[in-house]
Amino acid sequence: MAGAKMTKTKISDVSSKFVRYHKKNPAWGSLHIVMEDSNWESTYGLDEWAKELGDKEGVLLAKILQGMDSREIQKLSAVIERLESGEKLSPEEQDAELHCEWCGGEVDDDGDCLKSYCKGNG
Ligand SMILES: [Zn+2]
Repeated sequence: MAGAKMTKTKISDVSSKFVRYHKKNPAWGSLHIVMEDSNWESTYGLDEWAKELGDKEGVLLAKILQGMDSREIQKLSAVIERLESGEKLSPEEQDAELHCEWCGGEVDDDGDCLKSYCKGNG
């Protein structure tokens, strides 16, 4: 077990909200720059932007994104895509740590594999 982490936003707690919003806003509405354009770090001012557009739900979701780091948002986006494709994911599966897609090993904060010889490294 890794050391105790600060309580973070659980993806399984928020994923259905994002799926619902995406259904109503196919181009991700006021969250477009982050969720549609994959700018995982561009959450600054996102809630203000949603507010300006009069998008109340967008404000709430923007605040959720602002409480997450870029890696978590990227992971959230991947989970949303899987849910939208009809996959049934348990909360545990949604909250699972990211693993290297090549070797299944550990990855760093950027999602790069820790094994120097692995294709997923860098
Ligand atoms: Zn790897």
